[in-house]
Amino acid sequence: MSDQSGLEQTYGERYAASLMNTFGAPKLVLTRGEGPYVWDADGRRYLDLLGGIAVNALGHGHPALVDAVTTQLSTLGHISNFFTSAPQVELAEALVRLLDADAPAKVFFTNSGTEANEAAFKLTRRTGRTRIVAAEGAFHGRTMGALALTAKAAYREPFEPLPGEVVFVPYGDAEALAAAVDDTTAAIVLEPIQGEAGVVVPPEGYLAAARRIADEHGALLWFDEIQSGMGRTGHWFAHQHPAIGGVTPDVVTLAKSLGGGFPIGALIGIGRAAELFEPGNHGTTFGGNPVACAAGLAVIGVIENAGLLERVAVLGQKIRDGLAADPRVVEVRGEGLLIGLDLVAESSAAVAAAAQDAGFIVNAPTPTRIRLAPAYVLTEDDVDSFLAAWPGILDAAGVTA
Ligand SMILES: *Cc1c(COP(=O)(O)O)cnc(C)c1O
Repeated sequence: MSDQSGLEQTYGERYAASLMNTFGAPKLVLTRGEGPYVWDADGRRYLDLLGGIAVNALGHGHPALVDAVTTQLSTLGHISNFFTSAPQVELAEALVRLLDADAPAKVFFTNSGTEANEAAFKLTRRTGRTRIVAAEGAFHGRTMGALALTAKAAYREPFEPLPGEVVFVPYGDAEALAAAVDDTTAAIVLEPIQGEAGVVVPPEGYLAAARRIADEHGALLWFDEIQSGMGRTGHWFAHQHPAIGGVTPDVVTLAKSLGGGFPIGALIGIGRAAELFEPGNHGTTFGGNPVACAAGLAVIGVIENAGLLERVAVLGQKIRDGLAADPRVVEVRGEGLLIGLDLVAESSAAVAAAAQDAGFIVNAPTPTRIRLAPAYVLTEDDVDSFLAAWPGILDAAGVTA
């Protein structure tokens, strides 16, 4: 923690004494949020351009989300999956509607992204095949199954052996994908835009090639849209974005923005993948609970009623153009409000720290890359204030062209 007020210091020390050291020291102690802003324990305000890692689609404390969750909690909070509720059925129907697939689709709800991927991994086993082809640079989560699909050696190696026969191919390389998939492949799993890798967009036609390759071999095509989905790219799903996809997968996994900050994930099966699980194959106590599903419905409702998909597309373009104008930025990537940039040098940690000192929260997913995934309720003024501060942030971080 850079700010060392009494409160910040006390909670920093108490954190170190009482929480496991998996995340490193927290950068701030936060006390309050409103729209795209958060406040720390010293009362300093920050423009939150990370949005809880692509989660807070409606920002902090959105009245529609607060109302949906509190109303549902005071009406019916938790019931287990021996029973169902209107929000659960309505959210499943809404997701199927937004997916707009050319075959019937069905949903399984979870509490997080990694659980959605774990469920999807199990679903692929129901094809009778066990091989999975995944991508280098991919991140799919931290449970043993999701970790088995995640490429990063530092995350995997302390926990091997991991389940599954998983092969990794370079992301964006259709030929390598074609060479790796055969008639024993259960599924190809891809992020339509790689998030944790620092927002890596595949070349045009890559996802369509993946669709063809999967079809040739009877493999499932599984898109992990946990970070890229739910409007983040200006389309409900990144695979619907004409520049990226335009193909229908067999399996989609969601989480992050789905609940707008309330924990919820989902696995969606399309066509034959909708029917692969039989009673007893999978389960969850909390998944699909009425409160989480009410949150999901509120998020979708606000995005639709406030025209936020258009706003995401417009503001995203404005941010990318503004960031690219500085010669110390080598490349800016992304769609909508999932934005990544490469700096000229390995300075992303210093840039993120300088941004925080200047009142902006950004993320450094790799030593050279900065990622932004802000709330869809961001305003033009917010964007202007960040772009005005950006050159000074790079100066303060000591980045030179
Ligand atoms: C965040 C993320 C996950 C894991 O989700 P958790 O909710 O953190 O378990 C999986 N896949 C992708 C693409 C993600 O961005």
